[in-house]
Amino acid sequence: MTTTIFKKIIDGEIPCHRIYEDGQVLAFLDINPLSPGHTLVIPKEPAVTLDALSEESGAAIGRVLPKIAAAVLKATGAKDFNVLQNNGAAAHQEVLHVHFHIIPKLESGDGLSVGWRPGKLTGGEELARKIAEQLEPA
Ligand code: 5GP
Repeated sequence: MTTTIFKKIIDGEIPCHRIYEDGQVLAFLDINPLSPGHTLVIPKEPAVTLDALSEESGAAIGRVLPKIAAAVLKATGAKDFNVLQNNGAAAHQEVLHVHFHIIPKLESGDGLSVGWRPGKLTGGEELARKIAEQLEPA
C-alpha cells in the first residue's frame, strides 16, 4: 500500500485538528467540510477499504464512533447527521485509507446530499444465502 495523506497525519508529518486518539483510532476535522463539525474517524491500520480492515481495527472504530458522533452534535448544536464510508473510486473514495465521515446535517441543507434510487428486491433468498456462505469459515 502506498503512503496516503492520512498515514502522514497519523505519523504527525502533516498537521490536523485532532479530536480523539487512542492506540488504534484517530479522529480529526475534515479539511473541506460539508458542514461545520465534519469529522473523519480513521483506523491507524493502513487498510485501503473497509472489507480489508482487521476485526480488531473494525471493533476499535465501532467502539468510538457513537461517542465521537455525540460530541460533534453537542459541540455544533446539530441534531441530525450522516455517517458516510466510501470504498473505491466509483464509490467516491479519494483517500486510499479507510475513513468514516461524521457529517452534521443542518436545517439550512448543509451537510451530505444523498442520491438514492431504490429498486425492488428480487431473488433475495438466493442472494442472502450466497452472501451468508461467504461468511462461513473456509
Ligand atoms: P473520501 O472522498 O475519500 O471519502 O473523502 C476524503 C476526505 O478527506 C475528503 O472529505 C477530504 O476533504 C478529506 N481530506 C483530504 N485531504 C485532507 C487533509 O490533508 N486533511 C484533512 N483534515 N482532511 C483531508
